[in-house]
Amino acid sequence: MFPIKPHWLNYIDGEWCDSARSLTVHDPATGEPLATIAEAGSDDAERALAAARRCADRAELTRVRPAQRVTWLLRIAEEIRAVADEGAWVLCHENGKSLRDARDEFTEAARYFEYYAGMADKIEGTSIPLGNGYMDFTVYDPMGVSAQIVPWNFPVSICARSLAPALAAGNAVVVKSPELSPLGICVLFQAIAKAGLPKGAVNLLCGPGRQVGAHLVAHRHVDQIVFTGSVATGQSILRSAAARAIPSVMELGGKSAALVFADADRRQLLDSVKSGIFFNAGQVCSALSRLLVQRAVYDEVADAVAALAEGLRIGPGRDDPDLTPVISAGQLEQVEAMCRQAVDEGARLATGGGACRERAGWFMQPTVFRDVTPAMSIAREEVFGPVLAVIPFDTEEEALAIANGTEFGLVAGVFTQDISRAMRCARRLKAGQVFVNEWYAGGIETPFGGVGLSGFGREKGQEALYSYVRTKNVGIRVAGE
Ligand code: NAD
Repeated sequence: MFPIKPHWLNYIDGEWCDSARSLTVHDPATGEPLATIAEAGSDDAERALAAARRCADRAELTRVRPAQRVTWLLRIAEEIRAVADEGAWVLCHENGKSLRDARDEFTEAARYFEYYAGMADKIEGTSIPLGNGYMDFTVYDPMGVSAQIVPWNFPVSICARSLAPALAAGNAVVVKSPELSPLGICVLFQAIAKAGLPKGAVNLLCGPGRQVGAHLVAHRHVDQIVFTGSVATGQSILRSAAARAIPSVMELGGKSAALVFADADRRQLLDSVKSGIFFNAGQVCSALSRLLVQRAVYDEVADAVAALAEGLRIGPGRDDPDLTPVISAGQLEQVEAMCRQAVDEGARLATGGGACRERAGWFMQPTVFRDVTPAMSIAREEVFGPVLAVIPFDTEEEALAIANGTEFGLVAGVFTQDISRAMRCARRLKAGQVFVNEWYAGGIETPFGGVGLSGFGREKGQEALYSYVRTKNVGIRVAGE
């Protein structure tokens, strides 16, 4: 147990800063206020951007030997590990997630810094042969100032996911934390602040997206935008990016499908359903929200999944239950409304369907809908809650058509013992990542990102680093050849 500070601050140009206004952060397990945080306004955004601009223009992170960035990033990882227990406690209480998952976020954050530390001194260009009389090579320059907008579902690990490669490549960064769950990122920044980075290299602002977020992404000092969040917000940010023609990485929503064939290993499948849709109360962009099941085993699998949902232990994150509350009263209302609409459209409710009324906080029952058809809204729209749609299919061709039939394309899964079938499906699924026989197979090392409305650009893995640099080609005329 750790005491949670009653008031938290923003981090600008190497200093922790208060502001005249504050936002209240609630504990989703009780619905009660937990703490306040200084609300950043446009003036704070201006100061943070000016600091980042100075840092980038003076090349503070790139005029040093690259080995220095390795040292900074490894130091950050070490400091994150040192605050992981306290940070997990804070994150669990502000976000609702289990203490175990909150701790995993800090461990994952440390891993991002270690992983990209390993690349910070290996960002090497190529030499391009042009025949005698020329020397030609490429260099990778940092973008400059990277504005990074973070959502509330995995605030600490998503923040680290973009911040670590951005710093490894030598960018200065301004992070906008999510209003609903900003405190864990403050703990992350307390760790980062101890690593001795140049002033202005990292800045943290918490404030309303439509004000401080919108101000940031439209600002002339910003050279790149990294956004993780909803489709509608991403589209609005892209309009700002278009106005200044600056590059962006968009990690948006999903409606990801698992294809379950009759020969699927049932244990692997049920473990995957449990983590795929009930982990983090289903508030995962890559959640397994559509379970497509071959008709021969449809009833058996649908019954097993409903029984799994009914057997989940529900409770506050600090007790490490199977299912935790959703982030806010508004989110709970939205999830319930989508369940009501599913019933109205003819889906059969196998279990759940509403809030846990006997509990004080924002708990949603684990919910399974059967007899869902691909045209229903519950099969097309992202719920962002613990709600699973189970859809029957007959043939592989039909399963692929249903899986690929939404506007999203983040991840997909195949459950079968037939490797050829798995490979055929993996090739044809419209998704940035395909899991075979284990939902979420992969890690910080594997590239992640979407197709269609799920966004573009890749985070994680070696590939992500190249989202944070620009290629410059240098051609030299050699005299006398
Ligand atoms: P959201 O779009 O409401 O908010 C995301 C962030 O954007 C917040 O920090 C918010 O303050 C900010 N924001 C809001 N309006 C803004 C504006 N006009 N300009 C700039 N910033 C603005 O999303 P959310 O509710 O926080 O997160 C849930 C959504 O995020 C889901 O749709 C989910 O699928 C998606 N998500 C995607 C990924 C991924 O990696 N693909 C990861 C997590 C969440």
